[in-house]
Amino acid sequence: MERTVQIQAPLPHIKSVNIWLLRGDPLTLIDTGPRTDEALVALETGLKREGLRLEDIELVIPTHHHLDHSGLIATIVGRSRARVAALDRAAEYGARYVERSAADRSFSVELMRHHGVPESVIEANEGFWDFIRDTSEAYETDVVLSDGDVITAGGRDLRILARPGHSTTDALLVDEASRAAFVGDHLLAGISSNAEIVPAAEPTGSRPQARVEYLANLRRTASMPLDRLLTGHGDPVADHRALVRRRLSEHRRRCQRIIAALEQGPANAYEIAGQLWSPRTVAEQPLLVVWEVLGHLDLLLEARRVSEQKFDDGSRYGKAWFWVPERAERGDHAGAPTTGAPETSTFYPGVDRAAKFE
Ligand SMILES: [Zn+2]
Repeated sequence: MERTVQIQAPLPHIKSVNIWLLRGDPLTLIDTGPRTDEALVALETGLKREGLRLEDIELVIPTHHHLDHSGLIATIVGRSRARVAALDRAAEYGARYVERSAADRSFSVELMRHHGVPESVIEANEGFWDFIRDTSEAYETDVVLSDGDVITAGGRDLRILARPGHSTTDALLVDEASRAAFVGDHLLAGISSNAEIVPAAEPTGSRPQARVEYLANLRRTASMPLDRLLTGHGDPVADHRALVRRRLSEHRRRCQRIIAALEQGPANAYEIAGQLWSPRTVAEQPLLVVWEVLGHLDLLLEARRVSEQKFDDGSRYGKAWFWVPERAERGDHAGAPTTGAPETSTFYPGVDRAAKFE
């Protein structure tokens, strides 16, 4: 009989990542854990409890390209000769993993500089990217899936749906017959998913609107008839509509806090982060807090609640800062422009490098 088994692999910072074993034909893993000895032991122990070995696996499907979801693919394939199926975007990323993650890394350094993160903080956090490089590797995809395709895995039919936002390659794998879906990090029970801002597959010359895209996709997911979401970390989600409502209200609250911070005067994204989180958090996780603040600023820019402007400070891309336009129109802030339409920075330092992704 078809069954789904949750195997948890250890992961620094957020405790564990879920690997889902789908018993049935073909024997399938959804996500793999990072490429670490500890994760491999946890996976093999979990399989052993089911009377299985790694060599028995026939199909592997990553929900997205992140290291904790795809890191062990090449190891598993090397031992089992399993096939790999993935959404086209995750397949492309996997095929050029080293090149793509190196491009994401250099893009992110420029993004942080542009948004006010000090050089010393950027340098102190290089280990974040070393960790990504060291706990994952490239993988080849045998079955490249398009949005809406159906694949048989573990004795059931799964429809793959592209839901980018948390990453550029996110997919849901939906078992329509049992109203269940494997969702990776698209929606998590215990924590709000981040939305990474990295070079898109096709550069447009503007900052990827990851958080805007993420919320649009989250709303689409909320409208789906599902009873159970099997997530990338933590417990499954039973009432996904209620959880999406909660996440949306958290976003509204955070937007309000950012507006309140900007009511004090124009600021860059890193300065805003300093008003939302402890000094330790912003110093130790500068990229994550910049993604978080920028994502919410993008929601506010779209709603025309804030404006963004770039000034030339002699650095390669200049610096961006944000302000509440009403204040400037009232003329009550010395630092804000008082004339002209609000401008939006089209900062996109990855254009040169991202051209390789066309
Ligand atoms: Zn992820």
